[in-house]
Amino acid sequence: MACCVWEFTLACNLNCIHCGSSAGRKRDDELTTEEALRLCADLKKTGCLGVALMGGEPFLRKDFWQVAQKIRDLGMELSVITNGAIVDEEIIKKLAPLAPRAVAVSIDAASAELHDKIRGVPGSFDKSRAFINRCLREGLPVSVITTVHKLNLKELAAIREQLKGRKIAWQVQTAGAEGCRFPKELLLDDEEFYSVGVFIEVSRRTQPAGELPLIGAHDLGYNSGILKNISLYGKWEGCQAGVSVLGVRSNGDILGCLAINDDRFLEGNVGKRNVYGLWNDPAAFSYTRNFNKARAGANCLTCGYLEACKGGCNEMSLTKTGVMHNDPCCFYRLEHKLFAEELRNPFKRLWFRLNGLANAGGGAFGKLGGIFGGKR
Ligand code: SF4
Ligand code: SF4
Repeated sequence: MACCVWEFTLACNLNCIHCGSSAGRKRDDELTTEEALRLCADLKKTGCLGVALMGGEPFLRKDFWQVAQKIRDLGMELSVITNGAIVDEEIIKKLAPLAPRAVAVSIDAASAELHDKIRGVPGSFDKSRAFINRCLREGLPVSVITTVHKLNLKELAAIREQLKGRKIAWQVQTAGAEGCRFPKELLLDDEEFYSVGVFIEVSRRTQPAGELPLIGAHDLGYNSGILKNISLYGKWEGCQAGVSVLGVRSNGDILGCLAINDDRFLEGNVGKRNVYGLWNDPAAFSYTRNFNKARAGANCLTCGYLEACKGGCNEMSLTKTGVMHNDPCCFYRLEHKLFAEELRNPFKRLWFRLNGLANAGGGAFGKLGGIFGGKR
């Protein structure tokens, strides 16, 4: 197992509109410190290489330091995903000796006004930026995570300008429909969704190497005939839920991936069964581990990429179509939908490939324009 993403608590000090787990109050049955420490040891035994503690807001749990230290003592990498809204010198000072692999902070706009509106609490933008600045001064490896929807799509270029050249990595992801606070009309439509991919590709090509390492989350992209793979993985080999990734809720519920926020796909609970036994159960995570073409939905059934792709991101597939292995938003499908004419004609296709990115925001991508700068 490469990585365990652990919702350390569901308690949160912000009230973000797009929060996929609708965080705010802690769960009534969150793991005790003793159970959390036992889980760390079980993860190590299972071969886990790294643990990402997220929330809610993970720093709200008082035993954060005890558990984080245990993760490091066991030789696993530690990442922390925080909203950065608690600017506490103690936190910064205590993080550095843990040598985290990444301290990821959410920034959703280039202005305080919009960020605070999205995050639901006035002052959160200034606090998160102060947190980032303090972490950078301490030499901590800072990442910024931006979750994109209709409210902030046109902020991307301005956020990029604020981040570049500051030794910050940037992950761009899209909002899903899972959270109960999220108005569904704010979800990106197909063109907007694809334009996030174009933005990432263009930014990568135009920024000097090392100025701003930028990736798309792994539910974004893959099997594009035009863009390079923009996701976390160099090569898309299908959903990693239960393959190299494990998700743990704060009450010990186990899922292949926390993004699959659907109890039908719970594999168990660490209170009833240890992770080692669960992970090594041949019947577990069968939707990814035992994938075969018969499981594919109508969107993917006849696709030439199916064997390797396995029907794309299962969270995206579930929330958009109600079934797994049926992702309607892979770039292979979107390109055939949005650029059918260009892709049918081999000469246009070549021109499109050669010129489309150079003219991003205009030219072949004209219909996607607007997020590459200009008026927000
Ligand atoms: S249509 Fe399905 S199998 Fe084909 S690339 Fe898209 S997600 Fe993958
Ligand atoms: S469900 Fe999507 S986000 Fe989760 S591991 Fe699979 S591809 Fe990644």
